[in-house]
Amino acid sequence: MSSPLSAVRHSDSAQRMHVVSDETTQIADMVLDYARRRLLSTDTPLDKPFPPSELRRLAAGSIGESGIGARRALALFENVLAPSCITTDHPQYLSFIPSAPTKAATAFDLVVSATAVYGGSWLEGSGAVFAENEVLSWLASEFGLPATAGGVFVQGGTVGNLSALVAARDHRARTLRERNRPRPERWVVVCSAEAHSSIASAAHVMDIDVVAVPVGESGMLRGEHIAPALVEHGDAVIAVVATAGSTNFGIVDDLASVAALKDEHDFWLHVDGAYGLAAMLTPVARARFAGVERADSLIVDPHKWLFAPFDACALVYRDPENGRLAHTQHAEYLDTLTAAAEYNPSDYAVQLTRRARGLPLWFSLATFGAAAYREAIGISIDLARRIADEIGRRPHLRLVREPQLSVVVFEREGWDAAAYAAWSDRLLDEQRAFVVPSSHGGRVNTRFAIVNPMTTFEQLVEVLDSMA
Ligand SMILES: *Cc1c(COP(=O)(O)O)cnc(C)c1O
Repeated sequence: MSSPLSAVRHSDSAQRMHVVSDETTQIADMVLDYARRRLLSTDTPLDKPFPPSELRRLAAGSIGESGIGARRALALFENVLAPSCITTDHPQYLSFIPSAPTKAATAFDLVVSATAVYGGSWLEGSGAVFAENEVLSWLASEFGLPATAGGVFVQGGTVGNLSALVAARDHRARTLRERNRPRPERWVVVCSAEAHSSIASAAHVMDIDVVAVPVGESGMLRGEHIAPALVEHGDAVIAVVATAGSTNFGIVDDLASVAALKDEHDFWLHVDGAYGLAAMLTPVARARFAGVERADSLIVDPHKWLFAPFDACALVYRDPENGRLAHTQHAEYLDTLTAAAEYNPSDYAVQLTRRARGLPLWFSLATFGAAAYREAIGISIDLARRIADEIGRRPHLRLVREPQLSVVVFEREGWDAAAYAAWSDRLLDEQRAFVVPSSHGGRVNTRFAIVNPMTTFEQLVEVLDSMA
């Protein structure tokens, strides 16, 4: 007599995908071989997007009941899907904020997957959590935060900023309750008009108001700009957000004068250093960030200028307890985790299940040491300075602003938006560089964002030559 359970017969293929066999071994070899070739390639082109119709023609129909097999799926990726994705770690990728992971970090990203680590709790991933926290502690100490600071690696700056602001809001609500003060009708976050779009996005998700204060010509937020807003909105202010390296220009707000207001006003200071805070690791730029040591929370994206692959943002709280109180999820099946005293990364951001996405940075940093990182970041700051000087020497080009970090914004005399767009398209079409138009104050411009130590002065000069 067969039991009801064994009455369900599985075909031979039910476990075919999981079992170690000739077939799965071949697939693993094929995929790892591809990854190895791509990782060590020195001539991966920039590539460019394909139109949807082209991708439909070349790549549609891969999903069906029986599968097309690994060889065909991988060939489809290698020959069609990958070439239609821009190579973000290419030295001539100079738009938005590029990525420039070290070979060690990228290689180790494969290990993180292969090891099937759960990065959300100490119970399941203690070793991984320990290593990630070593990196977070190191970053916190570089930024001058106390040894008790801590946090978590989240997906990106957007989730990092949101998570920090939620913790700030809860902290404000708790403090008001403790002091028997009324809860304001609307919460407010104060930032510069130049703050990253993710602050407005966080405010939208949280249903709170943004007070974006105007800053002067320098684009730099200073204490005097926000003092009136602190007086006007008082208890309603959940946080002041200062930017340590704006995305558009690389401008570092005057963190010291903003932080100094803490002597008179009680507010949570969040520093958004997604792109720029990495530069504090170099002696040449360190002084620009004075004041960050008074932050209540901060973020920096290793996938931007700390040479880690997508996706990783280091979110650090001065007092991690504020993060834990705001973000711990409660459920009967989770109580065994949340009742434990150990450090559970899930508790510190808007998330539950999480990849141990800080491990690629941990591995690379452990391998090469911090000095190599300081030097590599310095190379881009130096290159930005040199190419800014070169732009200054060219009569038809105009530097919009002196670079502070590694973003260089400039204009081509006489070009309208269409001229910039045509030039940018041509550069990508010819696979010479990826440089897109941008704008400031209603004027079109373009910019180099440099984070890749393999980008050379000559490559940038070639782009300038193309604008003659
Ligand atoms: C890139 C950036 C963000 C957003 O980070 P993501 O990782 O793209 O979500 C936020 N703030 C600043 C200053 C940035 O440069």
